[in-house]
Amino acid sequence: MRRGVGAGLCLVTAMVGVVLLMALALGRLSGAVEPAVYRVVARQPGELVLDAGHGGEDGGAVSVTGVPESQINLEIVLRMRDVLGLYGVDPVLLREEDVSLHDEGASTLREKKSSDLKNRVKAVRAVEDGTLVSIHQNTYSSAKYRGAQVFYAPTEGSRDLAEHIQTCIRAALQPDNGRAVKPIPDTVYLMNHVDCPAVLVECGFLTNPEEEALLRDGDYQKQLATALAGAWLTVER
Ligand SMILES: [Zn+2]
Repeated sequence: MRRGVGAGLCLVTAMVGVVLLMALALGRLSGAVEPAVYRVVARQPGELVLDAGHGGEDGGAVSVTGVPESQINLEIVLRMRDVLGLYGVDPVLLREEDVSLHDEGASTLREKKSSDLKNRVKAVRAVEDGTLVSIHQNTYSSAKYRGAQVFYAPTEGSRDLAEHIQTCIRAALQPDNGRAVKPIPDTVYLMNHVDCPAVLVECGFLTNPEEEALLRDGDYQKQLATALAGAWLTVER
């Protein structure tokens, strides 16, 4: 695991960052909404751990055109790493390929899923001063719902981070998104077994045809990844 960068570089990246986030906001928004510009903090708060939800045999939800959630999650996480790299931030990725992280001994799908989640918890806990951002996609029985929503773990700092990310997504990408952050349900194993600040971002609904098309689109994934990376670069803890 590589550590951060020197203070000098941080100051430079901070200045560049303000410009980039401004460009992101200006480039994306229509004239109806004032662009929100956040100041990149000179030093990031600890290590960022990015979790692309699901993977391998566990594809997660399936989109209206048949794309597994696991694939979209990974594409967004890899793009986040690219953007963060421009600022000297090198996040820890729990997976970088379409794989499950289960132990070799696991044979049934259920065993693999359980082992995968335990290994994700272990990997997050092994990072000193880490913050977990887990990337997922939402679904619903009705096609009409859309928009990103951030959930927070019952650990210190998680709710503040969730609110900051929700605000950044709204400012950069979804001015009409009125969703509020929510506590993560007890049933989400990973989020309830880590001891660091942790949020889960449901980036959008795979059951809404318009949003699903966006979530599969490389340019939109880049915008989403930039908004999420921008949130991390501007968080203060
Ligand atoms: Zn998921």
